[in-house]
Amino acid sequence: MKIYLEETAFVSMILACCEVYRRESYGALLGYRTDEKAIVTVAIPYQSARRGHSITYLTDRRRQIIDSALDDFPKYRFLGEYHSHPGFRNRKARVGLSRSDLLGVGAEEIQLVVAINDKKRSQGWIQKKDQSLAGTFDRYHINIAGYYTVGSNGTAYGRRATLLCPYAVSLLSLPPLKSA
Ligand SMILES: [Zn+2]
Repeated sequence: MKIYLEETAFVSMILACCEVYRRESYGALLGYRTDEKAIVTVAIPYQSARRGHSITYLTDRRRQIIDSALDDFPKYRFLGEYHSHPGFRNRKARVGLSRSDLLGVGAEEIQLVVAINDKKRSQGWIQKKDQSLAGTFDRYHINIAGYYTVGSNGTAYGRRATLLCPYAVSLLSLPPLKSA
């Protein structure tokens, strides 16, 4: 499975994760897909998500409201969700998908995990060997991994997908010039 992240989806997801840094951001991924690839065109942070350092969730009723609202936008299919793992104190955030991350997840959904930590130095955006994307933005170091889920709630597990974002890797591949 390949997951393509379009420019606007990448930008809105990164900004949402940075905005609430040290707390989690959680949102929906919309777009279209086939069996082999998914194109994420829109990422929408859930405004009513309760944010903690390691848990973010929506109540079922709010989730239903969002699901039914999406039925009225036929061009956009619900593909899955993203959430962030912020570093906390000296615990470095990583992109692994935990068992609790998979609670409530439907079959064949896309999951993106955004690990966000304080930046040590600027780094252009690259595709890593493990198929994730990494780079720096502002004062943050960000690593994003993509998964697709097999099975559904309770028995779901995530398989690593190849995450591609031509916008990030081509335009943001060089560290920004230091201002004089
Ligand atoms: Zn998680």
